[in-house]
Amino acid sequence: MSRQALDELKRQIRLLEYLQAHDWRPARQLSRGRLMGLCPLHPDHRPSFLVDTGKSLFYCYGCGRGGDVIRFAELYHHVKFTEALALLQQWHSRPPLLHQVVSLYRMQLHRHGEAITYLHRRGIRSPEVVEHMRIGYAPGGCLRGWLTQLGYPLQTLRQAGLVTASGYDAYTHRVVFPIEGNLYGRSLSATAPPHRFLPGAKGGLYSWEEVRQYPEVILVEGLFDYAVLWQAGFRNVTCSMGNHLNVHQYRQLCDRPRTVYLAFDADTNGSGRQAAQSLACRLREQGVNVRIVSLPDGHDPNSFFVEGGDARQFQSLLEAARP
Ligand SMILES: [Zn+2]
Repeated sequence: MSRQALDELKRQIRLLEYLQAHDWRPARQLSRGRLMGLCPLHPDHRPSFLVDTGKSLFYCYGCGRGGDVIRFAELYHHVKFTEALALLQQWHSRPPLLHQVVSLYRMQLHRHGEAITYLHRRGIRSPEVVEHMRIGYAPGGCLRGWLTQLGYPLQTLRQAGLVTASGYDAYTHRVVFPIEGNLYGRSLSATAPPHRFLPGAKGGLYSWEEVRQYPEVILVEGLFDYAVLWQAGFRNVTCSMGNHLNVHQYRQLCDRPRTVYLAFDADTNGSGRQAAQSLACRLREQGVNVRIVSLPDGHDPNSFFVEGGDARQFQSLLEAARP
């Protein structure tokens, strides 16, 4: 990439915009265009991360690292220069496209009885939760046509992972949930792989901006677990999309003192419990208060509610959770 192309990329992607898209918020303004906040590169308890919005540069007084948006992407995602460039370009081109995808799939949801039936079977009944999570349905066979009509080249759709190499919609018969810079699709069919994401990072913790203010946070593995808890009135719930947290999600949980309730699946093979135990150890090292919620054998929070559990009963599980 030429010097000129690099400058162009940096002009297109302002550091502040990129930081904000990754959940960074300034704690205070030092002077015009100079913002101070917690450092996203390490667990930070006192704002030490300075951003010069005019020059699009950062410097951390805590860890001593600094630079431009490319340097930030390298450090933040733990990648080399060229990979950081690729991530930035992907990030830059994806949001408008994903926005279109999500609107189309949201329209499809109410046209497909099988999708609504599936949601009901997974305990999702309230229109509020469908609205809040912007749940949609990918029937298959409609996305490629729609997006090419809007002017997106087929090559772009393939690169984004929305269309397969052979030209078909990548998401077919799936209930879809937009997540930070990605799209999760749950298959309705028992024969297809159940979970699907677009290539690239799965992003941070689900809905973190709304949750981080709570002194007590419930962490679940799946979006269907999140949905039933949210529907039952729990607003301090977030989801890691799997029981292995990425570095970004881990840092988010450690960004201030809080209590985290781990409500992972109680699989009969014990993998959810093991994951919860090891995560609990690592979080405690960072001074986070952890409680492991013990669900009845073979249950996850979703099945707990689907099979008749209610908010009061789940609340009792939280109160009984072991340190
Ligand atoms: Zn730092």
